[in-house]
Amino acid sequence: MPQRINTAVAPADATVPTVASQWRDSVQPVESFRCLNPRCEAPDLIQKEKSKGRPQLFCSSKCRRAYDYERSQLLLDQEVLAAALARPGGSFRQRQAVQSALATVRRCLSHYAYATNRASKG
Ligand SMILES: [Zn+2]
Repeated sequence: MPQRINTAVAPADATVPTVASQWRDSVQPVESFRCLNPRCEAPDLIQKEKSKGRPQLFCSSKCRRAYDYERSQLLLDQEVLAAALARPGGSFRQRQAVQSALATVRRCLSHYAYATNRASKG
């Protein structure tokens, strides 16, 4: 029964000859993924292209830009909301409203966990 490499070889026994021979018979990780943009509507999985070195994380440059933009906006929103809460003042209700807003922004940010290198393409 094929198994993952981590089951086939324990870290303590991992040598290049052992892992190289076991890797061929191991269950390979599936290398097709959804676009990383959480709002992407493209139905297709992104397949690994053998010619490319770096993984393609987005289905299109449009999705990459949308992801980068939304992530940067959420980070800036978070900064403003956290800065306000770090200062004293405001009524209980006002502080509650800002805390709730910060929680919303952080919930959204959890879908943008990956920090893209904005200089790169793909
Ligand atoms: Zn996409």
